[in-house]
Amino acid sequence: MSSPKKSNEKSVLPAFSLTADGFAQCVLAWQQQHGRHDLPWQQPATPYRVLVSEIMLQQTQVSTVVPYFQRWMETFPDLPTLAAAEEDQVMALWQGLGYYSRARNLQKAARYLVNEYDGQFPQELTELEKIPGVGRYTAGAIRAFAFDAYGPIVDGNVRRLFCRLFTISGQPLSTAVNKTLWQLAEHLTPNQNNRNFAQGLLDLGATVCKPKSPNCEKCPFVRHCQAKLQNRVAEFPNPKTKKTLPTRHGHFLWQLERDGLWLERRPEQGIWATLWALPELESAPENANLVGEFLHTFSHYKLRAQVWQVQALELNETLSQPRDLKAIDQEQLEQVGMPTPIRKFIQQQLQE
Ligand code: SF4
Repeated sequence: MSSPKKSNEKSVLPAFSLTADGFAQCVLAWQQQHGRHDLPWQQPATPYRVLVSEIMLQQTQVSTVVPYFQRWMETFPDLPTLAAAEEDQVMALWQGLGYYSRARNLQKAARYLVNEYDGQFPQELTELEKIPGVGRYTAGAIRAFAFDAYGPIVDGNVRRLFCRLFTISGQPLSTAVNKTLWQLAEHLTPNQNNRNFAQGLLDLGATVCKPKSPNCEKCPFVRHCQAKLQNRVAEFPNPKTKKTLPTRHGHFLWQLERDGLWLERRPEQGIWATLWALPELESAPENANLVGEFLHTFSHYKLRAQVWQVQALELNETLSQPRDLKAIDQEQLEQVGMPTPIRKFIQQQLQE
């Protein structure tokens, strides 16, 4: 395993009154009494279960993830099963969680680990970070949760907690702030009890130092937290500068026939990659009826979509390039991996 950090008895930051050891003791004592001990991926915290849960928890809340995690484990109980699964089955199981590249990466990770490590997990941080879809946070989380070894972590919860504890100014996701946060995480992470320490940090952020109205009176750091002592909690983390998202217009095709609804498997690259969706058109077709519209917000833009119906005879003309198209029986629509806004639109239309 990679060498643990050096012991450091100095205070964390000049103004902060706890040493790194004191900080860890505080987190550990709090976690033992108040932290979460019954999350499904904690029992047992195998590397595979930790990997799956961490990937699911990126961008998604614990309460949403729990049933998905349980279904996933029933279907793909280990790396070899996931590595050998049909991609459609993987996508269908992920449906509703969004950010589908995470599901693809999980399967790539499983294949990588089966091929490169005979289905085991490496333990070095640098090797963990080479697994597809695994970044610095997830590598640290696997070390801490699965191996109970030194594994610094910085996620949204830790970011908020540290920005308040140490009054760190600047855009919380900027390179400079990120660097400071990781340095702090490396410095504060102890050499023992890493599983409980990491869980304690996440739980403190999620249940006490919450984004809105943090519960400072219940916080073990209430007498040390710089933001609290300076009465500036609301200032940290500094608010993100809001970007106005551009709007993109999209056009889709609605073709419902006796054989079912025509869907297109999306290309390997781009949005909704490899999922089944209504066939996308370059522009609004001529002589077409508007079936409906929907709006969907992605992280970088808004999609304003219009869905069109054309005469069956015109279908081939409308879709000029060869596409991976299939008429899917209405009963089977539940079984295919589909982007959530498309699924909602289809369900609405079929109910009407
Ligand atoms: S004292 Fe309040 S603001 Fe400071 S870390 Fe604790 S909960 Fe967060």
